Amino acid sequence: MKGVISSFQSLGTVDGPGVRSVVFAAGCPLRCAYCHNPETWEKKGEEWEAAALAEKIFRFYPYIKNGGVTFSGGEPLMQGEFFCELAGILKEKNLSVALDTSGNWRDDFTLPLLDASDIILLDIKFTSEEYYARTTRGSMKKALPFPALSAAKKKRVWIRQVVLEIVNDGEENAEKLKRLLAPFSGAIEKLELLPFRKICQSKYDRMNIVFPCKDLAETSQITLDRMNAVLQAKD
Ligand code: SF4
Repeated sequence: MKGVISSFQSLGTVDGPGVRSVVFAAGCPLRCAYCHNPETWEKKGEEWEAAALAEKIFRFYPYIKNGGVTFSGGEPLMQGEFFCELAGILKEKNLSVALDTSGNWRDDFTLPLLDASDIILLDIKFTSEEYYARTTRGSMKKALPFPALSAAKKKRVWIRQVVLEIVNDGEENAEKLKRLLAPFSGAIEKLELLPFRKICQSKYDRMNIVFPCKDLAETSQITLDRMNAVLQAKD
């Protein structure tokens, strides 16, 4: 079947372990105020048959055979059937599949796509429903079952959160995140705090839309260090 792809990165090193090809799905149910990829919001892009996209990916096999392929976006769960088919073809060459998701989507292909993935990169955007709804237009309640589901399916789990100064930059938020994830800590391989950056401003300018976080300060290393200290402290 056909999927709608916003862009394709042949080789990347920041979306999962090792060197990976990254497929950016078009379409996202959220509208995060700090989004770096506003061009992926609508389901508009190139249409690809799963087999044809797999052929393109296999050209990079020598480089990604020890890393793999990451499905990112946008929200790949919104095209679960397509990505299940693509994962199936990639598995024929033993390529590792990572699913980069906010967990804010659920349909009949969500669990099969979790099954087909080796690594779940779950973006827990905020630890309060109020901030989550206000800043992403999504729901923390929808995302929260994903750590448990991923752990139950014995997947490798990487948790990520973008840190915005003033919004979720405090030690209190770090404590909350730690408590939230404590029941699944055995399954979580990595917990990454990512700094908010404004390099996406030019994308908003090109799309002629306002970047809601244009006046927010970029996240400092001091803030990240303070929060990481809380996350890493033994209780
Ligand atoms: S989930 Fe990702 S792609 Fe979607 S709006 Fe948020 S940051 Fe952007």
